[in-house]
Amino acid sequence: MCGIVGYVGARECTEVLLDSLSKLEYRGYDSAGIAVFENGEIRTQKSKGKISDLIEKMDKEGRISGHCGIGHTRWATHGEPSDINSHPHGNANITIVHNGIIENYKKIKEFLEKKGYVFESQTDTETVAKLLDCFYEGNPLSTIQRVLDEIEGSYALGIMFKDYPNRIYAVRKDSPLIVASGENEAFIASDVPAVLKYTKNFYLLEQDEIAVLDNGRVEFYDDHGAPIRKEMHIADFDMEAAEKGGYAHFMLKEIHEQPTAVRTTVTPRISDGMPCLEECGMTYDRLKSYNNIFVVACGTAMHAGLVGKYVIEKIARIPVTVDVASEFRYRNPILCSEDLVILVSQSGETADTLEALRLAKRNGADTLSIVNVKGSSIARESDMVLYTHAGPEISVASTKAYMVQLSVFYLIAFALAYADGKISTEECKRLTSELQTVPEVIDKILEKPGDCQYVASQLVNSENLLYIGRGLDYALSMEGSLKLKEISYIHSESYAAGELKHGTISLVTSGMPVIAVATQRDLFDKTISNVKEVKARGAKVIMVTHENSDVDSDAADIVIGLPTIDDLLMPMTAVVPLQLIAYYTSVLRGNDVDKPRNLAKSVTVE
Ligand code: GLU
Repeated sequence: MCGIVGYVGARECTEVLLDSLSKLEYRGYDSAGIAVFENGEIRTQKSKGKISDLIEKMDKEGRISGHCGIGHTRWATHGEPSDINSHPHGNANITIVHNGIIENYKKIKEFLEKKGYVFESQTDTETVAKLLDCFYEGNPLSTIQRVLDEIEGSYALGIMFKDYPNRIYAVRKDSPLIVASGENEAFIASDVPAVLKYTKNFYLLEQDEIAVLDNGRVEFYDDHGAPIRKEMHIADFDMEAAEKGGYAHFMLKEIHEQPTAVRTTVTPRISDGMPCLEECGMTYDRLKSYNNIFVVACGTAMHAGLVGKYVIEKIARIPVTVDVASEFRYRNPILCSEDLVILVSQSGETADTLEALRLAKRNGADTLSIVNVKGSSIARESDMVLYTHAGPEISVASTKAYMVQLSVFYLIAFALAYADGKISTEECKRLTSELQTVPEVIDKILEKPGDCQYVASQLVNSENLLYIGRGLDYALSMEGSLKLKEISYIHSESYAAGELKHGTISLVTSGMPVIAVATQRDLFDKTISNVKEVKARGAKVIMVTHENSDVDSDAADIVIGLPTIDDLLMPMTAVVPLQLIAYYTSVLRGNDVDKPRNLAKSVTVE
């Protein structure tokens, strides 16, 4: 999870590390720390809490000054957030930062304790630091390789050896880490935005490749220790895209970026008015060949998959199973070579989704990933990748990534339905052109946030609420409910409207808010009946529907009317008020919208 940074060059290292770490804050963390070479000695400063707490501590103790160092933000997996458990770990000779989980740390710890090592933290990371110390005989590269042979699990590591001042070693497996190089300076970071202020040139480290950053030079070695040349990439977005641009929060900025994100994701994939996914090798013939589709993802991305399921099944008539990645990988799913497994992940590094991908490949299924971050592990390892071109998503609560994931699902559904002869060329063109009108409709909704602000003012003191809907509206309300939970900390549940009376309606008491989504006209009357059931029990009903829907005045307390587009596409527009309601409720409750408690952006641990 969280963040690693490192710097070698002429600048004041502590400043660069703190600045780069602050760019990774969006990933969520609970402690921070740095280690810097000062007059040939490795000095460490670390603290539980925010980077601002670390800075306060540094200002009391005196800042370390030097030109080479590593930094870390921790999201505790082994041991509570505390000063001692914060990274860096190690001793005066070897110091490391680590993201990920060392799965066999207990065995290694026992081995080291027998050798007389005494552990001070509860972390799995400390075993790596001590194992390096134990194996070290003067050659950092061979020592690291020996340690890599012993450790199991996921790791991105930044390592400094006192015998080699002004040099950083870096290695990764299943946790993200990039190496960047500027003029006579070099960096490591978990993510490109951390170093964009300094350089756009970066390298992607493959599994167990080792990078050595020395006096601004970067060398790479393969997992056998042989030197290798690597291709340099150039970041195609700038710092401005990663900054707030005048919005109060990244989340609000990203909500407003959705129309552009949809355009950049959809437009290049339309040829002669028809969806075209051939860029990744997904021809109509290949699409036609699948018997079953599985969508595997976590959190918001999984919710995008649920909408995808309804749309694909509705128009392409191919069975789609949606799975939470952490369940899929352990339930021994039944897969074969006629199956397509679609993996969805904003970061492309989600640990469970990555493992699900590997499982699908081992079982011979075709794999397609829908990923936002270029060159990420899931993108690299899947047979085909369709990038969502949303630009960096900084807010922990995902909005525009969900929106572009939906866009790609619609393109897949249209192409599949056409390839399988379920819709005509004319219908496929009509749906595709309707998809292209979505950005304008979202813009219209964003122009008038007043209703959503009012709804937020009505929810702010609630402790519980329900979202209800049928069909696509149900799939969508799952995301609306998650968004509210994530950032407002109000407990909410999303329920299939017709299922409510089979148990959950017992929760409805006088004044309890119920957000009813009713955009599917074939199900409208049925949903209204369910709305009346909760209304009769005192619920305060907020209804999200078409602006011209005929809603009885006694059915809903507040109606949010949306411009009319094809019902199939309504989730893309109806999600916007749900995002805004969650956002404004969080603001009114005084929460840290972009960094909600206990959450991390890129979940790179299981
Ligand atoms: N597993 C390590 C720890 O708990 C690293 C956590 C992280 O990735 O930040 O300290």
